[in-house]
Formats: sequence, C-alpha cells, structure tokens
Amino acid sequence: MRRCIKEPTPAVLRVADQLAAAVDAHLAGDTATAAAQFRLADGLAVFFWLNPCWYDVEANVVCRNPEGDTKVLPRADRDPQRSVPRSVQHEVLIRDGYRCRYCGLRVVSADIRKIAHRIYPDAVPWNARNLRRQHAGFAAAWLQYDHVVPHSHGGRSDADNVVVACALCNFAKDRFTLKQLDLEDPRRFEPAATDWDGLERLRARPAAESRTEPVRTDGNGLDRLQATPDSEPVACRQSLQSHGGAYFVEGASLSKGYLYTPAINGKSRWFRLSDEVEAWPTRQGAATGYALRCNPVLLHRRGIKLPLLLSEGPAAGSRLESEPNV
Ligand SMILES: [Zn+2]
Repeated sequence: MRRCIKEPTPAVLRVADQLAAAVDAHLAGDTATAAAQFRLADGLAVFFWLNPCWYDVEANVVCRNPEGDTKVLPRADRDPQRSVPRSVQHEVLIRDGYRCRYCGLRVVSADIRKIAHRIYPDAVPWNARNLRRQHAGFAAAWLQYDHVVPHSHGGRSDADNVVVACALCNFAKDRFTLKQLDLEDPRRFEPAATDWDGLERLRARPAAESRTEPVRTDGNGLDRLQATPDSEPVACRQSLQSHGGAYFVEGASLSKGYLYTPAINGKSRWFRLSDEVEAWPTRQGAATGYALRCNPVLLHRRGIKLPLLLSEGPAAGSRLESEPNV
C-alpha cells in the first residue's frame, strides 16, 4: 500500500520555500525579489508533476472492485452536508496544520494565492479555466479538505473523516476509495509537526496595501508556457496580462477612497474602495481610465454595464475551482 498517489519530487518540495521567500520579500517591500521568487515556484517540473495526474483520475485507480470495499450509497443515505463546513475546516486545520496528510506537502489556502495573484498578476498567473495558465507552485500547494471515505460511500463531512490534503492528493483521489487507490488510511498516522503557517502572514498585511497598483514585472510567465507542448503563446500573453473579473472604466477618477465613473446614462456612479473593491490606473488601447475589480453584483445594483479589461471575463467556476470531489 502507498501513502500517497504520487510522491512529491524535490522540485515540488521546494515550492513552499520559494513561496515563503517571495512573501517575505514582499512584506519587506522588495517586490522585485518577491516576483522573482514567485516565478521560481512556477516551474515546468512542478507543472508536469501535477498534470495530468489530478484530472486524468481514472489512471490513478489500482483496483476497480476490491474485496470488502464500501459501496456507493443512494443519495438519500449520504450525509446531507456534502461540502465541509467552515467550523470543521477550522478544526481540521488546527489538528493537521497546513500539511497534506497523505504526501506531507506544505499547503497554502486559495485565499493567499488570490492575494498574491492580485498583487503580482504577472508572476502569479491564475486562469481558472486553463491549467496551463495557472501558477504551478500555487496549484500544487493548494490547500484542500479531503473526505477520506468518499461522501458518495457514506463518508461524513466531519473532522473524523476529513483531512487536510494537497490538490493532487485530493483531486487525484476524486470519488475513489482508499482500497481502489491502494492507499493507506492517512488517519493511521499522526499529523506531522510543522511550523509552516500556510503563508497566512500575507493575509495579515495592512489593508491599505491591497489597494496598491498591482506589481507588473517584465517577464510574464511565457518562458514556462512556451516550453509547454501545444501552448499558444499569443493567447497565453493575453491571458496572463488580464486580471480576470476586472472592468475597464474609461475616464474614471479616484478621490479619497472612491472611484467615480464619468456620466453613464446621464449620471456619474461611485464605488467605495475596500478589500473587495479595487481600482488601479490603466489603459485599454488608446483610452485611459481605471481598472475596477469588484463583484459584478455591484454593477447590476447600479444598473450599469462596463467592458471587461482586455478580452477575458471573470473566471468561471471550473471543476478545479469548485468544491473538492468526494
Ligand atoms: Zn498530498
């Protein structure tokens, strides 16, 4: 029996240290080093370790019908709470630490990755619809909550059945049982002691910093993507430079924490900036204005439509952005 579906390689094990060096440099105000370290963690070796193992899940099955295995239950007999409640996530995280209970990889929550992506859109690319355009290190270190006994087999969404996992161990496990995957039950082994904090210190930075203009850097990750078979450099460039979910507000102005649009349907609108609503000066073609990142609901409430920045829309929920498979 194996402890995990795929052993992390040295390049994968280095990711956490590289991400930590990036975050420490950022918090010290050294954005150039931060960007360089984020890029180091986005290597091809990590990309190919992760892919296609976490989406070609059938390939991970060792035995289709092992003897004495649990069976898929009718929906009515399953735990009505399919996703892991926040309170359980919290409890599990305190018990397991930011470390995969299967392979031991040090993991980072999606929230931290989103902050890094927002501040360093070039060095931390993230396109939910395209694996090739996701930062390989953050993808590999993506904190998940895994149902050890699959929910479909009667596994409950409680702390007894849920463990911290990395993205590969969770997504590659998919709906299969430990027996089908020839995996040891991770609960037989104590969580490894660790002082790894999941880079939560990035979340604790002063709120004002989240409103700074994103750090643009010279390179844009194309080196990695061009080396990827079948990549489309032109499409990649466009994607990597986009901000997903950001709108272009031509002729807008910023004053005392508010973004003001020019008159739309005869009326100027304003948006109060916060952690959820960000704006930074930008240009689209020859037009200058502000990029506005906010929940589309805010536009709907104001009865206005704004063009998306560049060609990309907000990231739609792909399978890998959704709840972990159980
Ligand atoms: Zn793992």
